[in-house]
Amino acid sequence: MSGTKILVSGIQPSGQLHIGNYFGAMKQVIELQDKYESYFSIVNYHALTSVRDKEQLSKDTMSAAMDYLAAGIDPKKVTLFVQADVPHVTELAWIFNTLITVPYLSRAVAYKDKTAQGLEATVGLFDYPVLMASDILIFDAEIVPVGADQKQHVEMARDIAQKFNQAYGETFTLPQVRIQESVATVPGIDGRKMSKSYGNTIPLFASRDELSKQVMSIVTDSSGARPEHVYAIHKLFKSEAELQELYDANVGNYKALKETLIEDIDAFIAPFRARRDELAEDESYVKKILAASGEKMRGKAEKKMKDVRKKAGIVTTY
Ligand code: ADP
Repeated sequence: MSGTKILVSGIQPSGQLHIGNYFGAMKQVIELQDKYESYFSIVNYHALTSVRDKEQLSKDTMSAAMDYLAAGIDPKKVTLFVQADVPHVTELAWIFNTLITVPYLSRAVAYKDKTAQGLEATVGLFDYPVLMASDILIFDAEIVPVGADQKQHVEMARDIAQKFNQAYGETFTLPQVRIQESVATVPGIDGRKMSKSYGNTIPLFASRDELSKQVMSIVTDSSGARPEHVYAIHKLFKSEAELQELYDANVGNYKALKETLIEDIDAFIAPFRARRDELAEDESYVKKILAASGEKMRGKAEKKMKDVRKKAGIVTTY
């Protein structure tokens, strides 16, 4: 593909996709899919840093693929694949591990946040940014659309690319991060960043009951004129002008505001849910897409790794 820039992004299959994932990252990929050569990875090795239930992980891997297809990823435009279908990614991460230092990786904010929230401080969690650098660099990504929480990781991928290029000669492209500022950090129902690891999400494919339960649990306080956490989520679905009127008419009436929010989210996700239900009936269609994409991406990765191994003096006999 001459001249078309390469975009790479990904999602961990570590629980139900939520509206933070959608507005922070997924929507950008959907909007950019016509413009870029786009690769989207379901990063199941990354998910191992927080999921240790094998049934859950394998179920969530298929589920993430269906979610993305249902939310608007066109498999003819975006190569949607499973990370583990390209084992070269973990191979490359090892090589990168030998180039960067423990003090450097210790600066990763996401690692500090996750361990502070109670996630076990495994070597895998610590090494998360290096595996992510492999995901990005192995396919020569030029642009990486993500939420704000991943900005530092993309910067680390740039540093790692530079390290390798300095050590072994020009090999990797330096990727640019792309963040949609207005939705860089979607808050969860407790006001912290919405995250699967924090259990504070509104799932993108929530049933009406689930949706009601989560919205009704959004933490409110009575200090300001409007409930800020409710408003922050509401403005993803309605213009600020529309909200102004609604919030002015319902000062102090949190229940009414939350009920309107439920209606608005429900209307927004109804078509996604319908497509998601259809896909769930046709798992073989989804598997076929993933298998073909995996093969394509393995081919690209093997080509890149041949060059990398040669440059680093790694001998193989196949
Ligand atoms: P999670 O934190 O829920 O486990 P992932 O780490 O799988 O989510 O992130 C997938 C993508 O969604 C990343 O690009 C990430 O930056 C984005 N993202 C996750 N949570 C949010 C959020 N609350 N607001 C904006 N973007 C987010």
